[in-house]
Amino acid sequence: MPQPNFIDKLNAALPTAAREALDVLILAAGTRSLALYAVGGCVRDLLLKRPTLDLDLTLEGDAPALARAVAGGLADVRCTVHPAFGTATLKGTGFRIDVASARAESYERPGALPAVRPGPLRDDLFRRDFTANAIAIALSSDLTGGLIDPFHGEADLEAGLLRALHEASFRDDATRILRGARYEARLGFRFEPQTLRWLKRDVRYLEAISGRRLRDELLRVLREPQPERILLRLHGLGALTVLHPSLSFDERRASAFARLRELRDEPPATACLALLAWELTPPEAAALAGRLSLTRREAEAVRAAPDAQALLPALSADVPPSRVVELLSPLPPPAVWALAATAEGPPADRALHYLRRWRYLKPALDGHALVALGAPPGPRLGEVLRRLKAAKLDGEVRTRRDEERLARAILSGTEAVKATPSRSS
Ligand code: ATP
Repeated sequence: MPQPNFIDKLNAALPTAAREALDVLILAAGTRSLALYAVGGCVRDLLLKRPTLDLDLTLEGDAPALARAVAGGLADVRCTVHPAFGTATLKGTGFRIDVASARAESYERPGALPAVRPGPLRDDLFRRDFTANAIAIALSSDLTGGLIDPFHGEADLEAGLLRALHEASFRDDATRILRGARYEARLGFRFEPQTLRWLKRDVRYLEAISGRRLRDELLRVLREPQPERILLRLHGLGALTVLHPSLSFDERRASAFARLRELRDEPPATACLALLAWELTPPEAAALAGRLSLTRREAEAVRAAPDAQALLPALSADVPPSRVVELLSPLPPPAVWALAATAEGPPADRALHYLRRWRYLKPALDGHALVALGAPPGPRLGEVLRRLKAAKLDGEVRTRRDEERLARAILSGTEAVKATPSRSS
């Protein structure tokens, strides 16, 4: 029986512009007698008949040189090379192709970045996280169009198994634990039993991973359609407590993640991070933000999670909108989204009103209008504006004329300036 030609299958899965770029790369590799392969996620997705976005290619040769050689001839394609890593990226409209020189890796100590040397395809496949990601399609070599699968990844794909390539895999690079949990949820796979034993044995090596790498993998988890399933699994595997001893995840938190998606499509990662940190104390939240080397905005959201949680009792009381704004405006919005997803009943409604309307509401009058009414320029203008905003939030004034009346009363001293919010982000 003739073998299927996987290049045809790959082409059929790609947008036209990507197909053209791939053709040119294959031709250039062939002309130079260099073996080029498609590897990793795109091959896995092709075999699983899932849509694939990015194309990863491996070249037994100098990948940056090949990418540079073809880039000039491709319209609307940007080429970025990283000679130190032996990699290059071709980016066109709606596609991205990464080309890397085939390499072998060795790990001097757990979690360290590996020492890399040029190697044949087999070594390049052996350094990968799971057999399902260690399958190649030969694009230009004697085997053109065929599948190269030295570690039986196709059988594991068919069986829905995530199998590590060797016993030291998670000790070498424990981010593979997060990656595996992500693939389990996304592909509906499960860890092969021996792999699961190695994983549980070596989960502590997550400690050796740099904050930046942990953050990047965690954010990839949070971008999945149902991150809560992955977080529950990571909790069960003991991976979250390695990130911070107090970090945990349960069904209640999982429901809050689902609720957050109901409240807004594609919730920002910052809101998800705040939800993850929901039950931590302020020092614990700060420690987690530091451990994960979060960006400033992400760290702000995480550190604000305990503050947001502490506001729940105050938001449960029968408070007017201006008080809600006063309470919530010091918090970064992602922490308020986390609060809205966690709370129920009136506090949740109040947080949502705040996020969707109240925080944007402004009085019709501005500083110039107040000066025209006879207000002396200076800090008192700000006080009056805040009072006007509170009155508008609470329905005490509706029209511009109402506001002018109230402003005159405040300025003439017949209406006191109440304590009102000082900031609304
Ligand atoms: P996704 O669909 O999530 O993007 P992907 O398989 O394309 O999945 P990438 O993170 O883009 O994943 O990595 C490309 C390939 O590089 C993977 O398929 C895998 O073979 C390999 N890889 C990535 N990270 C690791 C790692 N930490 N350890 C071993 N191999 C890895």
